[in-house]
Parts: sequence; C-alpha cells; structure tokens
Amino acid sequence: MRFEPGTLAVLIGVSGSGKSTFAARYPSSWTLCLDAYREMATDCAADQSATPVAAEIQDLLLDARLARGLTTIVDSTALMPHVRTKLLARARYWQRPTTAVLFDVPLDTCEAQNASRARVVPARVLYDQHRQLPTTQQLRAEGFTEVRLALAMVTAPAGPGR
Ligand code: ATP
Ligand code: MG
Repeated sequence: MRFEPGTLAVLIGVSGSGKSTFAARYPSSWTLCLDAYREMATDCAADQSATPVAAEIQDLLLDARLARGLTTIVDSTALMPHVRTKLLARARYWQRPTTAVLFDVPLDTCEAQNASRARVVPARVLYDQHRQLPTTQQLRAEGFTEVRLALAMVTAPAGPGR
C-alpha cells in the first residue's frame, strides 16, 4: 500500500490481525508503536503501568514527524474512537493527510494468528475487540482523508502496489 508522503496512517484492528506485520514492510522509523515503548520502559510490551509514559513518547514523536511532513504509521489497535480522534486532531493541526488502514480480519483468523505468538491474548479479549471494529463508513465520518482495507494484504504475499 502506498501512502502520500507526509500521511498519518492509523492501523485499526484486533490483536493478531496483522498490524505489526503490515508495518514491518515500511522503514522502521515510520512506525510508532506503544508496545515498543512499553517494552523499552519496562522490558515487557504488555505492562500497562507503562502506558502513560509510552503514550507521551508516542505523542512527542508523532508531532516531531508530522511537523516535518514525514509519513508516519501508528501501530496500535486504535479500536477506541477517542484514540482515533486524538490522532486525527494532530494530523489536522499539521495539515497532513490521514489514512485509516482497517484490518477487517475474521475473528477465527485473529485467534489462529494469536495462538502462534509468545504473548497470547485471551479469546474473550479478542472477541470484545472484534466487536469494537469500526466500519469504513464510520471511519470516513470521523474525518479520515482515506480509508483502506488491509484484508487482501494480510492474506496475500507481499508485493509491489498491494
Ligand atoms: P497486536 O495488536 O497484538 O500487536 P498485530 O495486529 O500487530 O497484533 P501481528 O503481530 O502483525 O498482529 O500478527 C500476529 C501474528 O500473526 C504474528 O505471529 C504474525 O506472524 C502472524 N501473521 C500476520 N499476518 C499473517 C498472514 N498473512 N499469514 C499468516 N500469519 C500472519
Ligand atoms: Mg502488533
């Protein structure tokens, strides 16, 4: 998937839907990821006690990159509307285009992909997250410049232009 330079791309999807796998196709400096900052702060990506500091780091880097017109990918579940609203506000402040990348992946696929990982998210959490998935219409109404579906890329091998 190509992004207009300077875009803020917000990945949206349940745990195990392939967001970080998608982000890994781009230069690592493009991606902001709360899990990574929690791990840097505590040695454990899932340690929620470090979420405030991780969010502060993400906010600083987000503004630093958007101010410079650098394409930026936010790799988190972004299932809560207020999380997306806050990200959209920063992009609007810096007058940058925004792309919502929706991982509309079936729940059983997320469960299967989750099971293959070291840090397995409980099925109930995945179920609740899946119910929070917004629709493409919802994301457009929230104000994203562009809304893209990542389903095809999650299930197909990487290739140019996908
Ligand atoms: P989280 O929100 O928990 O960080 P995530 O959305 O970032 O989850 P990933 O870590 O990208 O999910 O993917 C979860 C697991 O699924 C990984 O082990 C990854 O290798 C695997 N996976 C991702 N995409 C595919 C695919 N297309 N086919 C098979 N396995 C995949
Ligand atoms: Mg991830």
